[in-house]
Amino acid sequence: MDATIETIRNEALAGFETARTPAEVKAAEVKYLGRKGLVSEILRGLGSLGPEERKEAGRKANELKLALEAALKAAQERLARDVQEAAGIDPTLPGRPMPHGRPHPLAQTMDSICDIFIRLGFDVAEGPEVELDYYNFEALNFPKDHPARDMQDTFFVSPGVVLRTHTSPLQVRTMEARKPPVRVIAPGKVYRCDSDITHTPMFHQVEGLVVDKGISFPDLKGCLVSFVHQMFGAGTRVRFRPSFFPFTEPSAEVDIQCVGCGGKGCRICKDTGWLEILGSGMVHPRVFEFVGYDPAEITGFAFGLGVERIAMLRYGADDLRRFFENDLRFLRQF
Ligand SMILES: [Zn+2]
Repeated sequence: MDATIETIRNEALAGFETARTPAEVKAAEVKYLGRKGLVSEILRGLGSLGPEERKEAGRKANELKLALEAALKAAQERLARDVQEAAGIDPTLPGRPMPHGRPHPLAQTMDSICDIFIRLGFDVAEGPEVELDYYNFEALNFPKDHPARDMQDTFFVSPGVVLRTHTSPLQVRTMEARKPPVRVIAPGKVYRCDSDITHTPMFHQVEGLVVDKGISFPDLKGCLVSFVHQMFGAGTRVRFRPSFFPFTEPSAEVDIQCVGCGGKGCRICKDTGWLEILGSGMVHPRVFEFVGYDPAEITGFAFGLGVERIAMLRYGADDLRRFFENDLRFLRQF
């Protein structure tokens, strides 16, 4: 028995040692350690021995089994190393770090804008980018022949369906779904047929709407001045200019003192000292009528700002299209 075990041990160790391919290692494993292999045969043979003899032989057979299992493992590891070396892989080299991503500069700007309004107590609302003409124009008091509905500006999907040209449809959708008071912002993508250094066919807006009893123009001014001071710095001067939007009356464009020259006049502000950053106004009574609010009871203000415009001012970018070219040399700066 001892002699048999010793012979098998020597033969098997040599077999594992000299195996050079996965098939050869597998063959040696089957021959010695398999279910019908030589070690199993010895273990089965123990039954025919006397008790004393069986104990001793069993111990030696188990030792053999452990030794051969270790030899198998060593052979498998050696083969794996051979494969790595053949492929030029050095497992002792340190790993390559994965580059960290970060939000796109427009997403960062959008987040900063939303954070400011959320701190001012606004909720965030979202709505469809493919929008009904009713919400994009009609319920916002755009007359049927208004130039904003023209093919030059609007992407039409089908009769009565457009890609929203602004985030203002959310004003109507929000008021249809809620009773006043309403204090909500709606960030998102909008679409217009337009492309040059300050326009892209897809861009981002943040819409704002505040509706309650007794909301007045000073509330609008206070809210937007507070936003400008948090976004561009506490000392930034703000100017309101009369303007026109079909869904607000009165309406105002909001300008800030030029971030490039501090108001003295430069290329960014075209020597005016001012930069237009958003449109605003008191919600038109007609819009309240469309959503079933009573304009005699409640009033409100609305505003819409262009995220790209603010990002360009914030980062000093001179061409809006760069934000959409996916050039990492540009994007990594932010
Ligand atoms: Zn300037």
